[in-house]
Amino acid sequence: MSERTRFLLDETKVPKAWYNINADMPVPPQPVLHPGTLKPVTPDFLSVLFPMSLIGQEVSRERWIEIPEPVREIYRLWRPTPMCRALRLEKALGTPAHIYYKYEGASPVGSHKPNTAVAQAFFNKEAGTKAMTTETGAGQWGTALAMACNFFGIDLEVYMVKVSYTQKPYRRVVMESYGSKVFASPSTQTNYGKKVLAENPDSQGSLGIAISEAVEAAAASGGAKKYGIGSVLGHVLLHQTVIGLEALEQMEIAGEYPDIVIGCAGGGSNFAGFAFPFLHRNLTEGKKTRLIAVEPTSCPSLTKGKYTFDYGDSAAMAPVVKMHTLGHTFMPPGIHAGGLRYHGMAPSISALVENRNIEARAVNQIETFKAAVAFMRAEGVIPAPESAHAIRAAIDEAVLCRTEGKKKVIAFNLSGHGHFDMGAYDAFHQGKLEDYAYPESLVREAMTHLPDVKLTA
Ligand SMILES: *Cc1c(COP(=O)(O)O)cnc(C)c1O
Repeated sequence: MSERTRFLLDETKVPKAWYNINADMPVPPQPVLHPGTLKPVTPDFLSVLFPMSLIGQEVSRERWIEIPEPVREIYRLWRPTPMCRALRLEKALGTPAHIYYKYEGASPVGSHKPNTAVAQAFFNKEAGTKAMTTETGAGQWGTALAMACNFFGIDLEVYMVKVSYTQKPYRRVVMESYGSKVFASPSTQTNYGKKVLAENPDSQGSLGIAISEAVEAAAASGGAKKYGIGSVLGHVLLHQTVIGLEALEQMEIAGEYPDIVIGCAGGGSNFAGFAFPFLHRNLTEGKKTRLIAVEPTSCPSLTKGKYTFDYGDSAAMAPVVKMHTLGHTFMPPGIHAGGLRYHGMAPSISALVENRNIEARAVNQIETFKAAVAFMRAEGVIPAPESAHAIRAAIDEAVLCRTEGKKKVIAFNLSGHGHFDMGAYDAFHQGKLEDYAYPESLVREAMTHLPDVKLTA
């Protein structure tokens, strides 16, 4: 009898509620601080950027938060996404392990990001928002929000990191095709962008700078524009839990339960979306699944950063949160996994790593591309370079199973496809990629610029 490859759910199985980790956090949440006063923020401050419904989700302790029907209706365009058994990869590795992957590249824009983009656009529409701003690195988040805003009739302006804007124009064209306006960041649209350009006219930008521009554009609009964010914050992670909730059902159909759950982590949203529903079972049902967040050695916030309060952006305009950080002054080296180049990490993931509910691991760029190519040759799917970090760890665990003769069940999230990343694959094949371990000395230097937070109980 041949074994099954794909575990599909029909569209009635799109989850009806998101899972909120705040209900089960084993450690108390840390306050979110105002970037100016460094005192806990008030909803007033946040409401300049977000509608109250999303702020409510950010602080809610309800375990299940209902997914509005208009959001489910759009999810049904591509959800539930497939869960696949990587039988051919198992065979190629000669491992007794069973390897499963959840395929979020099945969305129209090719990543998990529309799971929150659609929800954010919906709640903004409901609150009367007519226009939004956001930032994007290589463009995955920008394209997701561009699609979502287009569905709900909201105007969108996107601040796109300049190096991507010039070197990878196709995602810009996708955003423009959905009807969004795209600016290369640093831009002349904002005071912060002008300041960066005055100091360094050749600045190629960074995610931190682009966030500052998008936040400023919303904050300075007198209420006309709200801001959408693609990762890090609690409501974003919440919306992504549809991934893991579907995966739980699909593993049940497969008749197995994962010993190891793996995801790549930039700001942490796809990892959390996949892993938190499994963590729920660890925390409430005594399951012992290992959860592994994988990051690049070139941007190792979880494995080399400090767990402390820091600004969410470069300009120190975004809220201050407690997280693993390389410092908000971090300037990312030019690696190809653009989505993993954020200086910080979602506060909930940071707290859970600190409390040892989640493991963190860093992998280097060349080994990651080797894993991507091995996966693609076995399974056919071209992974995004970000997702390939999860594949690297999954393969490493499967090879360990081979040497130890253990038959573990490994499940990872394939957060997106790599169709827009063939330049990176080309560089890999030509031997032009380099490994880069972010130096401790730069982390130490950046720690001298942290906000001076003094919390009184
Ligand atoms: C944006 C992105 C990531 C990184 O973001 P997280 O919030 O950590 O999930 C990972 N994979 C893909 C395909 C992405 O587009």
